[in-house]
Amino acid sequence: MNKKELFDAFDGFSQNLMVTLAEIEAMKKQVQSLVEENTILRLENTKLRERLSQLEHETLAKHSSKQGKDHLESIYDEGFHICNFFYGQRRENDEECMFCRELLDRK
Ligand SMILES: [Zn+2]
Repeated sequence: MNKKELFDAFDGFSQNLMVTLAEIEAMKKQVQSLVEENTILRLENTKLRERLSQLEHETLAKHSSKQGKDHLESIYDEGFHICNFFYGQRRENDEECMFCRELLDRK
């Protein structure tokens, strides 16, 4: 290998290293943007989980208030007042009570 061949070989190495360096820089940028995207998705995921658990609690509350209404309705159907005016008293001859009805219709 003469001197010219030697220097040509070094030039070739340098060229390759420059290309490799540029590739590494490009990969580094890709990784950076992936990490950023991942962070945004994790934040979104956290927000969605919080929202979901909120909704689950609301659904649970609605469910129990519906159960509460069913409970009141069955007491009324058994012939008792559920209204504030005659609360817990027996409805004479199963008479309709407009206060009780209003309460049941409202809920
Ligand atoms: Zn009543």
